[in-house]
Amino acid sequence: MSVLDVHMFPCLSDNYGVLVHDPVSGATASIDAPDADAVLAAVAETGWGLSHVIVTHHHWDHIGGIPKLKAETGCRVVGAASDAHRIEGLDEAVADGDDFALGQAALRAIAVPGHTLGHLAWWCPGGGVAFVGDTLFAMGCGRVFEGTPEMMWQSLDRLQETLPDDTLVYCGHEYTLSNAKFAVTVDPDNPVLRSRLERVVELRREGHPTLPTTMAQEKATNPFLRARDAGIRKALGLEAAKDWEVFAEIRSRKDHF
Ligand code: ZN
Ligand code: FE
Repeated sequence: MSVLDVHMFPCLSDNYGVLVHDPVSGATASIDAPDADAVLAAVAETGWGLSHVIVTHHHWDHIGGIPKLKAETGCRVVGAASDAHRIEGLDEAVADGDDFALGQAALRAIAVPGHTLGHLAWWCPGGGVAFVGDTLFAMGCGRVFEGTPEMMWQSLDRLQETLPDDTLVYCGHEYTLSNAKFAVTVDPDNPVLRSRLERVVELRREGHPTLPTTMAQEKATNPFLRARDAGIRKALGLEAAKDWEVFAEIRSRKDHF
């Protein structure tokens, strides 16, 4: 049973950086590299050092800090083999289902194409944490830039089938408040969602992060995971549609919200 220490910090305009530390070996990874200086400041603050960068996807706000982090720390970069051509400095290429050993802890790559085709979520089964990049957000999900809505739905559905309810889920951005305001428009009769929106308003008013979330919380309140829900289908007039079609309608409404 591995237990990882996790340190999350805001950076850029609305990204989160995350350091993951195996206290047994001392190995420490930055999940993505949004901003090298912010990651280095977190490394100094925690005293953990930096052995790896573990990449979720190739967008600039997730890999832009890699060259400087490699130059300053000599860290090794782990990411999707299929995106090797567009992740500068990639050292270790992995694919769906691969376990990456961060010291004593195993981080498992889960392919979640849709936001980008090579997007990976990283799950530490022994530590009860997952790092989902821009695929799943609190009460939201990433825009479908490279894949299809059906592909994105399958990726999100796979996450909710794979990750246990009590998994602590770390997302790439603080988008929770706007996601919650949208979510109540497609899931208006969900009391759990209503009270979560109120809590999020309060947290943001006080300047606190709304993450990590949990899978249980997302299953109860995230409309992008709830395409099977009768209330949402009724609100959208899509009672007979396929699950991915309900997802696609919610995604398209959010794109124009
Ligand atoms: Zn992205
Ligand atoms: Fe991003």
